[in-house]
Amino acid sequence: MSHSAVSQAATAVSVSVGNERSLRRSVFKHNNSISFNTKSSWSSSLALNQKTTTTIRDARRYTSTTTLCMSVQQASSSKVSVSPIELEDPSDPPLNLYKPKDSYTAKIVSVERVVGPKAPGETCHIVIDHDGNLPYWEGQSYGVIPPGENPKKPGAPHNVRLYSIASTRYGDFFDGKTASLCVRRAVYYDPETGKEDPSKNGVCSNFLCDSKPGDNIQITGPSGKVMLLPENDPNATHIMIATGTGVAPYRGYLRRLFMEDVPNYGFKGLAWLFLGVANTDSLLYDDEFSKYLKDHPDNFRFDKALSREEKNKKGGKMYVQDKIEEYSDEIFKLLDNGAHIYFCGLKGMMPGIQDTLKRVAEERGESWDAKLSQLRKNKQWHVEVY
Ligand code: FAD
Repeated sequence: MSHSAVSQAATAVSVSVGNERSLRRSVFKHNNSISFNTKSSWSSSLALNQKTTTTIRDARRYTSTTTLCMSVQQASSSKVSVSPIELEDPSDPPLNLYKPKDSYTAKIVSVERVVGPKAPGETCHIVIDHDGNLPYWEGQSYGVIPPGENPKKPGAPHNVRLYSIASTRYGDFFDGKTASLCVRRAVYYDPETGKEDPSKNGVCSNFLCDSKPGDNIQITGPSGKVMLLPENDPNATHIMIATGTGVAPYRGYLRRLFMEDVPNYGFKGLAWLFLGVANTDSLLYDDEFSKYLKDHPDNFRFDKALSREEKNKKGGKMYVQDKIEEYSDEIFKLLDNGAHIYFCGLKGMMPGIQDTLKRVAEERGESWDAKLSQLRKNKQWHVEVY
């Protein structure tokens, strides 16, 4: 069978997927049979939005991210079945299966603007079909090679740009065949005129945000180990700090912790997300996160810092470090008890956060430098900024 067949009963869909290409690295060999069963209201609502008989690629196109967001609203607290469970098997994460000189050609499934009209700038959620050939773990990144010639090296392709993967290893369709990115379009404004200069806009982010379903995309990776979610302790605390698209890896973590029925992994700890964006319209994946708050109030906390809408206690703009300061006592206690803390987003977020943490440590009579080196030594400190 060259394409997958999807047949739908009233509340269940069974999907069998033909093996079009064997998996590139044998350690990640897949089971090619996928089933969405009635156990999960997430998968049921996904199924209910699919046509009676269609191909899985068509199903992906018909079932947009918007539909998935709607299913967030509809779902009960039961979890979504995922497959193939062999993606849990390897003891080490996949790394650099495809390199810049030997990249993988994947296909764009969907591109959706995920910020409201009052958000400054544009951010898109992009689903990519890798057909199971580019497996990854939550917290890793893909490299993207935009089409065209590298202006600095005539005749050569563009350099690779990295993007944090915003889905779990099972992807937004829970079948291990897609990966999602959360991409902010880089736009250049002339500092003198204040006008946009399209010739200087970011190459790869604009390629991604302008791409259409069915377009080819050259991918490398997956890469990165710093942001992998440690899973040895189901009672662990994970404090996740993001600005803007830095929320991408946390969307993956939180789906794994709260949405997916992952074999042998029942999370009972605390996940605490701090998200800094400009305003309400700039909030990313807010429906999903709000749903976790409702369904898992003892295991999930979510604090937002809206810099253009809220004021900090000194009357200035509310940044993510102001929220950290507000909860610093609790955060320090959690860190002392072994919590993991993650930072992801623009490089510029770190100095303000580090200053705040240092000040709080000093107020508590602690040395921040000593504390930081201990956190690093214990592998509790995870930073990926760009
Ligand atoms: P480029 O073409 O590389 O340009 C870079 C910047 O320079 C742009 O802002 C552009 O407008 C400006 N510019 C271009 N020409 C000129 C000129 N002549 N003068 C002055 N300025 C100019 N980004 C995300 O959106 N989401 C993510 O999840 C994400 N994850 C990342 C993870 C990692 C580990 C890393 C390292 C980076 C990540 N990034 C992410 C950033 C991403 O890799 C790119 O750097 C970003 O999208 C910009 O790439 P670009 O090709 O669009 O811009």
